[in-house]
Amino acid sequence: MRNILLVVVDTLRPDHLGCYGYDRPVSPRLDDLAARGSLLTSLWSASNFTAPAFTSLFTGLYPHQHGVFDFMSRASGGVVRQVLENNRARTGAVVSFRFFSNLLSEVWNDITAVTDTRSFNYSKDLPPAVTEESLAWLEKNGKDGPFCLFTHYDGPHMPYRLPAEFAHSFDTVDPAAVDSDFRHLVFPQDKEEIGQTEEASMFRLINQVNWGRRKLNQETLQWMKDKYDASIRYNDEAIGNLLDGLKNLGLAEDTIVVVLSDHGEEFFEHGHLAHAGIHLYEEVVRTVGIIHDPAGPGNGQRVDVPLSQVDVWPTLLSLSGATDPPGDWLGRGFNSLLESDSPPVGTARIEETADVPPAPVFCHGQFKLAMRLGRHKLIVPKPSPVLGRGRRLRLWLKMLLQGELRDEVFDLADDPGETRNLAGDADLRRSLRSILAGHMAAEGPSFNPATDLAEEQRKKIEQEMKDLGYM
Ligand SMILES: [Zn+2]
Repeated sequence: MRNILLVVVDTLRPDHLGCYGYDRPVSPRLDDLAARGSLLTSLWSASNFTAPAFTSLFTGLYPHQHGVFDFMSRASGGVVRQVLENNRARTGAVVSFRFFSNLLSEVWNDITAVTDTRSFNYSKDLPPAVTEESLAWLEKNGKDGPFCLFTHYDGPHMPYRLPAEFAHSFDTVDPAAVDSDFRHLVFPQDKEEIGQTEEASMFRLINQVNWGRRKLNQETLQWMKDKYDASIRYNDEAIGNLLDGLKNLGLAEDTIVVVLSDHGEEFFEHGHLAHAGIHLYEEVVRTVGIIHDPAGPGNGQRVDVPLSQVDVWPTLLSLSGATDPPGDWLGRGFNSLLESDSPPVGTARIEETADVPPAPVFCHGQFKLAMRLGRHKLIVPKPSPVLGRGRRLRLWLKMLLQGELRDEVFDLADDPGETRNLAGDADLRRSLRSILAGHMAAEGPSFNPATDLAEEQRKKIEQEMKDLGYM
């Protein structure tokens, strides 16, 4: 099999990259890679936050099948790891958050967390450190037989931690007009290190905004977008350096490079900030998808067909020529779209594709479910059973008060901003709902319950998450 370099950038919205049409020069290196590779324009995460999204990516299972909804669980179902081992590929991982070491320990080998001593150390130096560690791994392991390296950048995840040369790249707002709590907590530039207390305060601040207990002025919102873009620029440079290093090591011609994000970020398009909340609109479920295969035809193409990250690994294993993927993974990947000389462009109408119906893709939040089918999208409220009963009831009540307990149907071809709810079309809503019900009823061919941690370890992580304001 050929080599694979899988780069995942946390919290990166595709529509903030030049290759997806953004008008600010934030991503020269990713734009260049996309111009030489395939750009997936409708790739969905399987969830709207990190732990279940990564578990789905690495197991090929949706969250109701793998059962992982937090960092206190551990992904199991090591199909990818097994196939790579059978193909004698070396595997490594360089990640920005320590929690990955626990989450992915059964589905991946050899995980290096760049910040191993802190739970959420958003250091200013993380992106170059990830590049440096990744290149050290490639230098050591890249020459002897196939390899597969997973590299995780913290990306434009709040709080924004930027070195001086990037900190003000896209500023458009007078800092005096910015809410001072946000300025101190979301962009703690004056501090070398951020403590857990400050991080917890930041998440609480965002929660207050999202539940309507605090107003956010327009200047602060624009200022956050400016910092988000500056963070993308910073990460783009670090990824560019990784790609240069791959080339300098003489490995670029034999390596398939894939760049994804795990989920997006909300900037008040639908009244909320950040991610991991109740919303499943496009700004948070649609992800980056760039695949550069040095031997592939059709480079420079766009693939507009709705796709899910659960099918990324089946695709990569096929593209790389790995042998012996399990039977239910064969033919599941979307590699034929990438290998085609004239890939399908544009999402087809449901009624126009009676011969080959479009395949639905799904996204599972903790509080809602979403499905994309052709041009249509359905969002329904449904709290995850892994939330405790008390928490579910409290959230249900909050959602009721905010008018969030309703079905939504959108026609993304006509209404990409999801502003016109078509749920009043009873036939359309019913047909979409019945497909979603079928998906929820299917456990999947490789069902594996989440592996629970030892009680002591679980309590430790739970306490850390509480300190951070996540629970
Ligand atoms: Zn994430």
